[in-house]
Amino acid sequence: MFYRNIFARNGIYLARRPAAIWAQSHSFGLHAGVSSRLVLSAFADGDVFAGCNWVVSKEEWKAMLTTLTARRLLTDNGEIEYPVLTIEDGRIVQIESSAPNGATGTLTAPFFDIHVHGARSYDFMAATLAEIAEVGRFLAGRGVGHYLPTTVTGPMDTTLRALESLANAIEEGQSGGFDEARAIPVGVHLEGPFVSHIKRGVHPAACILEPSVELFDRFQEVARGHIRLMTLAPELPHALELIEHATSRGVRVTMGHSNATSAETLEAIAAGASSSTHLFNAMRPLDHREPGILGAVLDREDVYAEAICDGVHVDPAIIRLWLKAKGEERAILVTDGMSATGMPDGTYMLGDFQVEVKNGVCLSEGTLAGSVLTMDKAVANLRRFTGSSLGVAVRLASRNPARMLGMEHLTDVKTGSAANFNLYDEAGNRAGSIFHGRRS
Ligand SMILES: [Zn+2]
Repeated sequence: MFYRNIFARNGIYLARRPAAIWAQSHSFGLHAGVSSRLVLSAFADGDVFAGCNWVVSKEEWKAMLTTLTARRLLTDNGEIEYPVLTIEDGRIVQIESSAPNGATGTLTAPFFDIHVHGARSYDFMAATLAEIAEVGRFLAGRGVGHYLPTTVTGPMDTTLRALESLANAIEEGQSGGFDEARAIPVGVHLEGPFVSHIKRGVHPAACILEPSVELFDRFQEVARGHIRLMTLAPELPHALELIEHATSRGVRVTMGHSNATSAETLEAIAAGASSSTHLFNAMRPLDHREPGILGAVLDREDVYAEAICDGVHVDPAIIRLWLKAKGEERAILVTDGMSATGMPDGTYMLGDFQVEVKNGVCLSEGTLAGSVLTMDKAVANLRRFTGSSLGVAVRLASRNPARMLGMEHLTDVKTGSAANFNLYDEAGNRAGSIFHGRRS
C-alpha cells in the first residue's frame, strides 16, 4: 500500500516530466536504503512503467533492481499470496511473500502458443524477418511470451524457404530475447506435408507427401535443427519409422490431419507420438465401435491434445469433454491463428491458398482454415466454457505445451527465470504483460 500510493502519485508526475524520471527514481530513496531500486506495483501504477519505458535507457534499466507486487502469483507449485518479486537484468532474483497489503491483481506465466501460422496479414510460409518480428510484437500484445511458428503443406521450395527464414528468426531470438515486447519463436512446428488426403482440411492435395525419414532430415537440415514439433498422420506408410526417427532426435510428434484407427494411433504412441493436433478437427470422428484416433487420444492418460477454443472449431460441450478426458495436465490450448489474426474481415493467405475471413470465421472453399483466435481469448473462452480457474486455464496455455516439448524453463515462474508475466485484474481480465521485467 505504501509503495503503491507513492508511485501512483509519482508516476503521474514523472510521466509529465519525462526528463526527470531517472533522477527522481534515484533521489527518491525508494526502498530501504537501496537508492537505485525502483518499486512498482504491477497494476495501479501502469503509468510509472510507461514513463520508465520511454525514458530509461536499456543500460540504465538493466542496472536497476525492480520490485513487482500483486495480490497473488500463480506458479507451478501453487499460489503465493502478496508476492514481492525482485527483478534484475530482466530475471527474477528473489520471490518473497509479504504481509497482507493493498496490492491487487494476479501475476501468471505468459502464454506459449505451439500452433500459430501468422498474424497481422503475415503468413510464416512467406514472411520476412521483419514481418516475423511484427507477428511477434502482435503476439506479445496478446500475452504470448514464446511460440512455435507453424508451417502448412506447400510446394517444396516454399517450405524450404520458410524453414530457413524461421530458423533465422529463431536464432535472432536466442541471444536472450528482445529489447522490446516481442514473443520469441523457439522452434518450428512442421504441420504437413505428411498428412492424410482423406483428412487434409485445407492442406493442398497436390503437395501432400508420404512420410519420409530422408525428407524430414532435409527439412531439419534447412531449419538448422529448429524443428521441434511435427504433425503427421500416423496411419500413412513409413509413419511409424519417421515417428521413431524424429523422436529419437528430440522432435515431438503430434498426430493430426489423420484418418487413423484406434489401433494405428496406439502403434504411433508406442513409437513415440506424444500429442494430437487440434483434436476433433481434421480427424476420423468418434465411433463407439471404432474409437479411432479421437477415442485413443482421449483415452490415453499420457498423451497430450491440442484444442482450438474459439467456439467455432469445437463446440463448448466438446471442450468440456476434452478437458474432462485429458485433465489439467495434458490439455493444450492452441490458436491455429492465421495471417488474418488481428486484421479486419477480408481475403488472406495461408501458405499458398486464399482464405476468406468473415465474422471471425476462416474458410477456404467451405472448409475451416485456421482461426483468428488469440491466446488471451482462448484462455478467457476456456474459463467461460468450463468454469475453470484462472490457474488451470493459464496452465493449458503455458506449462502444458512447454512440458510436452520438454521446454519447461520457458514458462517457469521461479528464482532465476526470465521476468515474464501476464497480469490479470481482480475480475479475471487480462490487464497486460511484463516481459523481461518491463511492462508492455
Ligand atoms: Zn494449423
